[in-house]
Amino acid sequence: MLKINAVSKTINDLKILDSISCDLDNGQIVALLGPSGSGKSTLLRCLSRLTSLSAGKILYNGTPIEALAPSKIGVVFQSFNLFPHMTAEKNLTYAPVKLKQMAESETKNRAVQLLEQFGLSDKKDLYPGQLSGGQKQRVAIARALMMDPDILLFDEPTSALDPEMVEDVAQLILKSKRGDRLIIMATHELKICKLIADHILFLNQGKLVENCGTTQFFNAPTSARAKTFIDKMKV
Ligand code: ADP
Ligand code: MG
Repeated sequence: MLKINAVSKTINDLKILDSISCDLDNGQIVALLGPSGSGKSTLLRCLSRLTSLSAGKILYNGTPIEALAPSKIGVVFQSFNLFPHMTAEKNLTYAPVKLKQMAESETKNRAVQLLEQFGLSDKKDLYPGQLSGGQKQRVAIARALMMDPDILLFDEPTSALDPEMVEDVAQLILKSKRGDRLIIMATHELKICKLIADHILFLNQGKLVENCGTTQFFNAPTSARAKTFIDKMKV
């Protein structure tokens, strides 16, 4: 279980996250919803330990996340952040080899396997600049899966891609759901939530205002802010 306990983040006197608390069960896909500027990316940055907490704590199966090995948490960034001067395969193998987290031959085998799983076998020698947006994202997801993370974070996985690709992205995220792995994706796209999310966290101005199952969120949101958000996003 991921336990987020009274987490706040303040930057320049501005309260960006305001005492967020929730318990998230392992093995599910959690969508982190909310209007632009509500704090979704900041919460993901706290979870991925890219930024420190101003207050509160986060525990994963009882262990403070600062004490988890870096490889336990995988991140797929909004802009993918691939290494531009490395081939797709090298993007996957570089960090595990450099950090000596896996033997070189094992790393290569795993990269080949993951690239195949994501339909990229014929792209493994291409550089990010030679790949489409969707292919880059698949490389980024495969890279995040290299170390078999327990927690996998996605920041706006559909936003850099063609709207028609939402269902493809949903399938890719589903593909990376496995066993106890907890997946958390920040998004403002309701469609992807309906397709794959088990649970919804809805943020507004740094506060957690809804924390419930996906069906309940869409059928009976408790906050006025979530109701307006759902109505506005309906097409
Ligand atoms: P979201 O991902 O929901 O759009 P963010 O987490 O990116 O929201 O941002 C939440 C708020 O925090 C915004 O008002 C943003 O301007 C502010 N913010 C985020 N990071 C910083 C930073 N490093 N310095 C100052 N303000 C920031
Ligand atoms: Mg964001």
